Amino acid sequence: MSTNKNNGIIRHCPAAKKFPLFKRMDIGNKHAKFLQYVWGSPERQERLHKLLSCTSRSLILTRGMATHVREALDDSKFTQYFTHIVDTFGTNFTRAPDGKWQEAPKIPLRGGREILKDEYIRDYVHGSVIIYVDDSPETAALPDHVELIRLQKEALGGIFNEDNKVALERLQTLLANHPDAVVVWDFDCTLTARHLYKSWFVLTHRRRRGSFPRWAAELDNHHLSN
Ligand SMILES: [Mg+2]
Repeated sequence: MSTNKNNGIIRHCPAAKKFPLFKRMDIGNKHAKFLQYVWGSPERQERLHKLLSCTSRSLILTRGMATHVREALDDSKFTQYFTHIVDTFGTNFTRAPDGKWQEAPKIPLRGGREILKDEYIRDYVHGSVIIYVDDSPETAALPDHVELIRLQKEALGGIFNEDNKVALERLQTLLANHPDAVVVWDFDCTLTARHLYKSWFVLTHRRRRGSFPRWAAELDNHHLSN
């Protein structure tokens, strides 16, 4: 990355001063374009706003990086719907009463391994109704009372992919019947239209485009490669 380009990124994206999502991606001033790549069309984003506005308590549990998720939420005005962002490395953001994210103490990792989502839900998520929405759900230790909404794995458009229609309708019914439910959301290809973490990896480790060829091709199609 050239010095000039790096300066350009920081000038056009204030978030890059603090967070690593845009800082390391050599995409010049295409931040708005990248955010639309991640979240999908304005119509899809509006649909997501409508869906999330039906939830009263939502948190994100991701195998990506909480810092990236936080930045993507903030830059696309989705922050308001969530109380926590937790990643499987233990990074843990909570939203303070003033609406701003605060980094809370890390979630302890057992035996040095990453957090398993089902164990996190079992140990840390409390509520009379808990709904877990994920395109790659982790279920071995998931308590029986948790309502699992299983989506198609890495479907383009995430929860709004046509193949997720039945799952989406089931989620909407649950939300209508249990307005106080706690909803645990996966991030990549569940809330998002495309896989943020894998795309970020392609853009920051270009020699390893072959690790995620599908997302390298998607970035090429959106003229976001370099
Ligand atoms: Mg996912």
